[in-house]
Amino acid sequence: MERRPLIAGNWKMHLTSDQAVALARTIADAASDVADRDVMIAPAFTSLPAVAEVLADSPVLLGAQNVAWEEQGAFTGEVSPVMLREFGVSLVIVGHSERRHIFGETDDLINRRLCGALRFGLVPILCVGETLEDREDGITMQILEQQVRSGLAGVEAGDMARVVIAYEPVWAIGTGKTASKEQAQEAHRFIRSVVGNLYEKKLAQQVRILYGGSVKPENVDSLMAEPDIDGALVGGAALKSESFARIIHFI
Ligand code: PEP
Repeated sequence: MERRPLIAGNWKMHLTSDQAVALARTIADAASDVADRDVMIAPAFTSLPAVAEVLADSPVLLGAQNVAWEEQGAFTGEVSPVMLREFGVSLVIVGHSERRHIFGETDDLINRRLCGALRFGLVPILCVGETLEDREDGITMQILEQQVRSGLAGVEAGDMARVVIAYEPVWAIGTGKTASKEQAQEAHRFIRSVVGNLYEKKLAQQVRILYGGSVKPENVDSLMAEPDIDGALVGGAALKSESFARIIHFI
């Protein structure tokens, strides 16, 4: 089963709108020759309108870093899926480890965000991953299974085909430590099997599973060569135009 690779850049809480526009321009240029893979950048909410204009004639997809589940209402500080769609956002990251660990987002909340994204036509990227302590305690697969199952609760098979999952070991995010390709492949294969048990094996074969955690030009090719790794969610290196350009051109 051929899955179209996706390289997604998460800009986190970096860059003013002017800086975001400048970086988006270089990425749009770098991605202009890329036809066999998807590229996405997720700026801060405040830069979405300006970056959307830069990407208007580019194949680079616009992403957001989080999403609420209702169209509108009394949800101070939140941004609705409809508001994101207004600016051409097509994908949203949900359950990023920084949301889970710094802001205390629970599996239940993340599931609501994911379902809200699907309901309003956005593609959710569901992030899952174990902490260093979980890995040392030998419970990595249990944690992954629990996060995948609760993140996908109530998602129908018809919608599941659109969901992207990102395996991001917490100990590898922003630390410079990358999971070995063997560790990453093992986790990806396991996540695919969990999806296969929840839905059908055939559907699980269609689901894209990205690896995230200190992806850089030096390691992207070997990670992408693994059979169950379908792309990358990139933090730090996505803010450096040369590095991200190299990552999107992985071999
Ligand atoms: C991320 O923010 O999802 C991430 C993987 O960050 P980094 O690439 O910096 O580890």
